[in-house]
Amino acid sequence: MPEGDATYKAAAALRTALVGKAISRFESPGLIGPTPQIGSAIERVESHGKQLEIIFDDGIVLHTYLRLRGKWHLYHVGQKWKKRRHLARAIIETDEWVAVAFNTPIVETYRQYHQSRHPHSGRVGPDIASAEADMHECAARLFHYDKPHVTVAEAMLDPRVMTGIGNVYRCEALWSCGVHPWAHVGDVPQSTCLDLVLTAAGHVRANQHSPVRITAPDVPGGLAVYGRNGQKCSRCGDIIRVTTLANTERNVYWCPGCQVGSEPYPERDDSDPIARAMDPHPAATQFVGDVLRNRTAS
Ligand SMILES: [Zn+2]
Repeated sequence: MPEGDATYKAAAALRTALVGKAISRFESPGLIGPTPQIGSAIERVESHGKQLEIIFDDGIVLHTYLRLRGKWHLYHVGQKWKKRRHLARAIIETDEWVAVAFNTPIVETYRQYHQSRHPHSGRVGPDIASAEADMHECAARLFHYDKPHVTVAEAMLDPRVMTGIGNVYRCEALWSCGVHPWAHVGDVPQSTCLDLVLTAAGHVRANQHSPVRITAPDVPGGLAVYGRNGQKCSRCGDIIRVTTLANTERNVYWCPGCQVGSEPYPERDDSDPIARAMDPHPAATQFVGDVLRNRTAS
């Protein structure tokens, strides 16, 4: 599952191999948009979150959205591919390299001067992996989010707010800033929005060139909450949970003891979706059971 930094690394590898080179082959079954011409050269390779774009010198932009399973591979010409050919969504060949996009749900091309009309690129927020990204703009996009009742956890992964973040850094930034993941984004103060963005960007950039992800060096494994469900929180000792909300596809790892900022349910009861959420870890299930019993008793 590529996080934003995996896409950033893929773009860096493609850039090194392809920029300045003329293409000798281009294939993309089912491509929507103009086909890059043989002989045109690759001018730039850019990543924005999980979106990777290859820009040709004739102004054609190949836009790929990697989502959860998409991946770009780079091979020497003649080298055996690691994935089956029918999974290839785009193939670009130069005289030395073959770049292949596998399993990418979106592959399309457009001419660069139409970029503002492009459904994705026209509206995406700054890429926090980039040192040039405007953090205040990301914070403003979060603070002024058009649906104030959406949870802050969801809004943080909306590419219109920022790109390059991914689930690991989303969870870790929420924990670092002590923000409740289900806080309504409209309830999160502006200063906290900026804290979240700066923290996430700090984590993404610190790990860009590292094979392992570390956001909390004092915690074994290097992450404060991600993947630590059922274990003790290093800050408050409470038990870390994992929760999947019905309308999101990914798990949010969080600590109920110390992530209370902008908490959406001050009067907790048994109808609380957090208490009802499934948690597969036995220790955490026990913990949630105890909490419910204690609430009933009081
Ligand atoms: Zn905690």
